[in-house]
Amino acid sequence: MWHTGTMHRIALGDFELCVFSDGTYPLDGGAFFGVIPKVMWSKKVAADERNYVTAGLNSLLIRTGRQTVLVETGMGNKLSERMKKFYGQPAKLLDNLSAAGIAPEDIDIVINSHLHFDHCGWNTVRDKNGKIVPTFSQAKYYAPEGEWQYARRPSERDAISYIAENYDPLVESGQMTLLKGGEEIVPGISVQTFRGHTASMQGIIIRGSQNPHPVSAKAAETRVGHRRSSAWLPTACYISDLIPTTAHIDLTWGMAFDLYPLDTIVSKREYYARAIPEKWLTVFTHDPTAPWAYIEQEESGKMVAKEAA
Ligand SMILES: [Zn+2]
Repeated sequence: MWHTGTMHRIALGDFELCVFSDGTYPLDGGAFFGVIPKVMWSKKVAADERNYVTAGLNSLLIRTGRQTVLVETGMGNKLSERMKKFYGQPAKLLDNLSAAGIAPEDIDIVINSHLHFDHCGWNTVRDKNGKIVPTFSQAKYYAPEGEWQYARRPSERDAISYIAENYDPLVESGQMTLLKGGEEIVPGISVQTFRGHTASMQGIIIRGSQNPHPVSAKAAETRVGHRRSSAWLPTACYISDLIPTTAHIDLTWGMAFDLYPLDTIVSKREYYARAIPEKWLTVFTHDPTAPWAYIEQEESGKMVAKEAA
């Protein structure tokens, strides 16, 4: 097993994808797996004596050849003392980017799938004077408009997950653009709303060009064989909290955090209807060991995650 603390890289057409981790944090296993009994989920994921499991914080870096795009910014370094007691505060993303030679100023675009604190934490930092400033000073930021509207008046149930410092200063300064869903942000990178975890969470869909990288061209041939048509483009999707880890790939294995659990099932079904036949690479936001995989369905109907080469 590899660990997302170290870097993973794959070619997608002529795009390059890398996963960078902000670290791992403890989450209650019951909350992570919703109505699924522990006798079932504990076969897939280990829990400690307090019933905590380990969740990852995976950001996806895309190099398109023109832009450097960062999807999701982890938990960041601005948690309150109370939040730190629950989640710790690994805050490793900038160090991990730096180890790969990437400075915050190198990021051209930041995309947040939704605005929960563990997905947009490094959007901003406090400077020496305590002022909130963008971490990625040169970047244009994008987030779902519905999320931002909701975050202004969240329900009592998930109000703790919204920290205005992560996005309000960016919206106010004009550095963050709000998305309706369906937009193409740069050629090959678009967003689509998948309702379930929240009402407006968006998946980020990445389509490489048809001039594939020599290595991935060979892999694509083996993966889709004779079914490959000229219209096929190598595709990846950062599906965020709709399918947070490889242990959540079954339709009914949703998190207790989901605000609309029945819609999570509908959205997963919709996602698989495209992602499975088109051989999309699925990127997992909270998997501590497998940041991405190809999801397949066996004849029995069981979903399986196949490790990406
Ligand atoms: Zn979330």
